[in-house]
Amino acid sequence: MANLILILGDQLTRDISALDNADRNQDLVVIAEVHDEASYTNHHKKKIVLLFSAMRHFAQQLRDEGWQVHYQSYHPDNEHQNLEAVVAEQVQQLNPAKVITTECGEWRLHEQISQWHERLGVPVEIRSDARFIATKKEFTDWAEGRKQLRMEFFYREMRRKTGLLMTSDGGPEGGRWNFDADNRKKWTGKPPAPATFRVEPDSITREVIELVDEHFADYFGTSEDFHFAVTADDAQAALAHFIDFALPCFGDFQDAISDNEDWLFHSILSPYINCGLLEPIAVCEAAAQAWYDGRAPINAVEGFVRQILGWREFVRGIYWLNMPGYAKENRLGNTRALPGFYWTGNTKMRCMHKAIDATRRNAYAHHIQRLMVTGNFALLTGIKPEEICDWYLAVYADAYDWVELPNVLGMVMHADGGYLGSKPYAASGKYIQRQSNHCANCHYNVNKSTEQDACPFNALYWHFIHRHRDNFVNNPRMGMMYRNWEKQKPEQRDALLHRAEDLLAHIECL
Ligand code: FAD
Ligand code: SF4
Repeated sequence: MANLILILGDQLTRDISALDNADRNQDLVVIAEVHDEASYTNHHKKKIVLLFSAMRHFAQQLRDEGWQVHYQSYHPDNEHQNLEAVVAEQVQQLNPAKVITTECGEWRLHEQISQWHERLGVPVEIRSDARFIATKKEFTDWAEGRKQLRMEFFYREMRRKTGLLMTSDGGPEGGRWNFDADNRKKWTGKPPAPATFRVEPDSITREVIELVDEHFADYFGTSEDFHFAVTADDAQAALAHFIDFALPCFGDFQDAISDNEDWLFHSILSPYINCGLLEPIAVCEAAAQAWYDGRAPINAVEGFVRQILGWREFVRGIYWLNMPGYAKENRLGNTRALPGFYWTGNTKMRCMHKAIDATRRNAYAHHIQRLMVTGNFALLTGIKPEEICDWYLAVYADAYDWVELPNVLGMVMHADGGYLGSKPYAASGKYIQRQSNHCANCHYNVNKSTEQDACPFNALYWHFIHRHRDNFVNNPRMGMMYRNWEKQKPEQRDALLHRAEDLLAHIECL
């Protein structure tokens, strides 16, 4: 008897576990563009284009290989607006032995699918997602009994498990586990950043762009200049482009920010890895091979592999270990609404304007912009975690709950009380000045703290330190900040706090 195999929009991998042992002559694959998934947040237009187009190409590939595919294209008037309704109709028509799917990446949907066997009256087999390097159980076992979870130790376990960048006697290649200390250079224009990898939209993608412009006109961002890969072959070409042109400098300029370059030496692979067009382990292996071939230095390759093998796996483990409670955490007691300029980019703060404008155009900003510019500002000003989390989930092409939530709520907002990171990534304007060339072009003066034209990050930083004294004064990694704060003259401290209060009172005007 036939099975019904549901493949979700971020599972576009030919080897996805839902297809294991499937029979292409009997089974029916279901892939659906549904309103409920496309509209649960104000997704960037480019993200919707990427996913719908990649889904359509994937369905076509399966059909070409002889699979029977039921594909629902998006239309606002479709009879079935959610996945359950689409699957229910196919179950009624096909009367399958069971529904098979691979576990999804979001608690909300996971809860729904877990109840389908009762609601649809058919067995539902949910298979684990073998694209991740650690299973959920492996992560849970590793985390058990640890008071604090630190990425670095988990990452070493993953290096040992995969053998990536490991010597034959079990040590790390290059003699160190972590070359982060070498990866903090400012970029001054040399060497030039590589050209962006581009794929010209084909007829399927052009049709999807039209659809998105018509039906998602109010959604964030623009579909203009869409150049993402939408097939596994093109994503593979994007990986090769990264390894040839950007990986050699990835480490050196990993923490750099530029006023005039959106992408620098980053890989721009997360949109593909997260929707299934690239396999994370294959991406790591390709980078490691570049080091063995002498095409990229160890600080670049180790730094890159750590992001995927370490951070990506780590945040996924944290998500599933702690949901659904994790999403509600707000340990710093933040109450401020997200300022409107997060959606428009209309702010005089050059670094914020540049990061938000790039986000609006590209559905992309690199890690340091997300963490140390838009994230840092939200942390310092005490934005409500759920509002800033919703923003990050909406605006990036690579955003899915399992990866966005721990990064924003844990890493950026420290709303989990330090479970994910040992100290908040709070920084004054000096950090942004050190890592970028924004400040020279800014309305505000990064060398001032209390005057009307002083960089807002400076006073806001000290306000954050002061107001969260109880949270952080005993944190060994924050001791120096508190000593520096207390060393300042009382008049200077008052002036800083006064300036920060004024900034917070007029936050929409910054
Ligand atoms: P590169 O800099 O080239 O890094 C290589 C790869 O490492 C990425 O493609 C990604 O797969 C992985 N990676 C790097 N850092 C992380 C991390 N912290 N967590 C998980 N994977 C990581 N990443 C997402 O994929 N989706 C998100 O929704 C997301 N939201 C974020 C929100 C905030 C506030 C922060 C600070 C980070 C977020 N990240 C997210 C992590 C990281 O910023 C992006 O993965 C990265 O910017 C993607 O661009 P890239 O492919 O050029 O990455
Ligand atoms: Fe950003 Fe301050 Fe520098 Fe302006 S001066 S770019 S606000 S850090």
